[in-house]
Amino acid sequence: MTKKIVTLAGDGIGPEIMAAGLQVLEAVAPKINFEYETKARNFGGAAIDADGHPLPDETLASAKSSDAILLAAIGGPQYNDAEVRPEQGLLELRKELGLFANIRPVQIFEALKHLSPLKAEIIEGVDFVVVRELTGGIYFGEHSLNKQFARDVNDYSYEEIERIIRVAFDIARGRGKKVTSVDKQNVLATSKLWRIVAEEVAKDYPDVQLEHALVDSLAMKMITNPSDFDVIVTENLFGDILSDESSVLPGTLGVMPSASHAQNGPSLYEPIHGSAPDIAGLGIANPISMILSVAMMLRESFGETTGAQYIEDAVNKTLLDGVLTKDLGGNASLDEMTSAIINNLCV
Ligand code: ATP
Ligand code: MG
Repeated sequence: MTKKIVTLAGDGIGPEIMAAGLQVLEAVAPKINFEYETKARNFGGAAIDADGHPLPDETLASAKSSDAILLAAIGGPQYNDAEVRPEQGLLELRKELGLFANIRPVQIFEALKHLSPLKAEIIEGVDFVVVRELTGGIYFGEHSLNKQFARDVNDYSYEEIERIIRVAFDIARGRGKKVTSVDKQNVLATSKLWRIVAEEVAKDYPDVQLEHALVDSLAMKMITNPSDFDVIVTENLFGDILSDESSVLPGTLGVMPSASHAQNGPSLYEPIHGSAPDIAGLGIANPISMILSVAMMLRESFGETTGAQYIEDAVNKTLLDGVLTKDLGGNASLDEMTSAIINNLCV
């Protein structure tokens, strides 16, 4: 059946990298007999300019009835003082779709090892995934503030914890079969429950190893022993911080994709970087994060493991060939990088 993919190009470099991602999808699709149609919809700042709202009704309706959503990037300095901000659209979209699980793979490409701030021997074999709970916890608890006192409440129910831990175990099953559950169990009640639930869920996955870590020590180990990890799962606040920490290991934002999943309904795939307004429209942005987001979509929404692997191998080969955009220390344009990746599909 023809898969419906909604594309949200957004702002800044968004339209350029989205076009690159779709070119790669178009090139790989016939090789794996993947049938799809795309619908481009307004989103973010571009939608504010056009409709006055970052998430127009038509965009939301299309997203809800799609099989998967590709998002490039939103935001820019021109919206910093605006009444409605582009990011509001993304928060609404996540909420409407129930995207509770955010997945960020961290790997270091052979050809890009020198960009990592860590020593070569430390990053050897780094290949892990950060799974962050996205719709609960302290960001969504009660907030109160006056000049003398402030309060933020951290709430987690058993069910909210269980579903995110299951996502982590399911991913680990298809990878290195190890889950590191991260909490602050020595002080927080939510973390005590988190550990109990992780232990309960682990009983359903006897083939996957579960270990627990305190968030403070995990933050250190991610730098000192990053190759120890396979799947790291944690609550919203800790995940926000740890996923950003993890994103500096490769030494560049331009190669990192992400996925967000709901209990039911479409998932959303996007680069982890922003709209890079400083280089928008120049044709020099690195499209790899978007292209790898397409690969993640093929694997995680459509079970097209082979197609995903074709794309990932082509990216790896292109980088080894020395085709590098400016952010990677080279001078290839966005188009040159995209063409090289397409030429390296299945070679
Ligand atoms: P955010 O949007 O997350 O608040 P930001 O606007 O500071 O953060 P980005 O838009 O990701 O972050 O840009 C940070 C820097 O990285 C910029 O200098 C930008 O040009 C560069 N950058 C980000 N993505 C890419 C890319 N795909 N290719 C090349 N450079 C990039
Ligand atoms: Mg930005």
